[in-house]
Amino acid sequence: MNFHDAERLLGLLRQDGFIAVDDPKDADLIVFNTCSIREKAEQKFLSEVGRLRRLKKQEPSKRIAVLGCVAQQQGKALLERMPHVDYVVGPQNISKFKEVLSRESGVLIEDNPDIAFEEIPAQRAEGVSAWVNIMYGCNNFCSYCVVPYTRGRERSRPPESILREVRELVSQGYKEVTLLGQNVNSYRGGVSFPRLLEMVNSVEGLERIRFVTSHPKDLNDELINAVASLQKVCEHIHLPLQSGSDRVLRLMNRRYTYAEYLKKVEKLRAKVPEIAITTDIIAGFPTETEEDHQATLRALEEIQFDGLFGFKFSPRPMTKASKMEGQLPEEVKAERLSEILELQDRITEKKNRALEGRVLDVLVEGPSEKDPRMLTGRTRTNKIVNFYGDTPRGSLVKVRITRGLRHSLQGEVISGSPSGRHI
Ligand code: SF4
Repeated sequence: MNFHDAERLLGLLRQDGFIAVDDPKDADLIVFNTCSIREKAEQKFLSEVGRLRRLKKQEPSKRIAVLGCVAQQQGKALLERMPHVDYVVGPQNISKFKEVLSRESGVLIEDNPDIAFEEIPAQRAEGVSAWVNIMYGCNNFCSYCVVPYTRGRERSRPPESILREVRELVSQGYKEVTLLGQNVNSYRGGVSFPRLLEMVNSVEGLERIRFVTSHPKDLNDELINAVASLQKVCEHIHLPLQSGSDRVLRLMNRRYTYAEYLKKVEKLRAKVPEIAITTDIIAGFPTETEEDHQATLRALEEIQFDGLFGFKFSPRPMTKASKMEGQLPEEVKAERLSEILELQDRITEKKNRALEGRVLDVLVEGPSEKDPRMLTGRTRTNKIVNFYGDTPRGSLVKVRITRGLRHSLQGEVISGSPSGRHI
């Protein structure tokens, strides 16, 4: 979400003749687009912005702006703490950034109910896949999460506006869109989320549709059927479980039990047998016992996710969980997290190995970062595949998987590139 906010901000500033530069020393305007989902990101930002004090002193005409969730959270206090910062603008007010820039300094962190109706032309990096915001904010108030406080309540973008953007992206050569929302499957823009998927599915020239992030409680039969029947909707869902313990899930205010979650996974797999399911897990939520932690490990064994993002619990300002009794020591959180990650690594590797010999459709993204002699692309199930070949970016090729590794697959092209080599 933050990444795409930055693309929108670039698009907006470009209208005024700004261009992006690599070095803050060359910039007239330095923008920090901040994230406060975890403490670590916030601290990193504070130390980076602190470092610019000297530069600002040497060149007072340089302007420094802080956008995003830390800006929203701290507001005016940030200007007081960091007087070399000129502007503080919350994530709901990106569209008004230029207005603020016309002033000497300013803070803009008001609630913006019109956010869903604003069309800001994003400046995206070249590629085959583009993010498209379909809704903003969140109403769920999971007890650990700062998002409802920084990004406000849910607001859905009208379908016509979304479709306009998707068609425009296709005309620019993008092949895949990822529909974005904090809680994407609770989209209510006059049509249901499955209906929106159907509308996007009918955009000619588009090859693939993805969506993140889904809340398990909003995953209904209609959505499962849409994933099963709409040809362009990829067989992958990111479905954060967060914990395998019902007691912890209740404290997290997640509004599902492990059994309910599991039932939805079974339904998904029954209707879409190839589907890849990835998840998020928080290790060391306040009061989490060894028994709760074991329940999470059992859940990972039982569900066999394709991948997982694991995080140590991080107390965020304003949230209920930050004030809960029973905060765990860092070492316990770290130990539990590493057990979770190790177990999942084994599962992911096993699942990737099981793909050896299979022929999969891969959308070519371009040269691999690690080895530019190779190409990289993704399967419909969102797995990274590296292979030799000279197929242009944006092509769809059939690749036989020759090796399943922990974090990627290797393969050989069997159609689409005559120079495909075995690796
Ligand atoms: S659903 Fe996601 S964004 Fe919303 S409060 Fe829960 S964790 Fe945060």
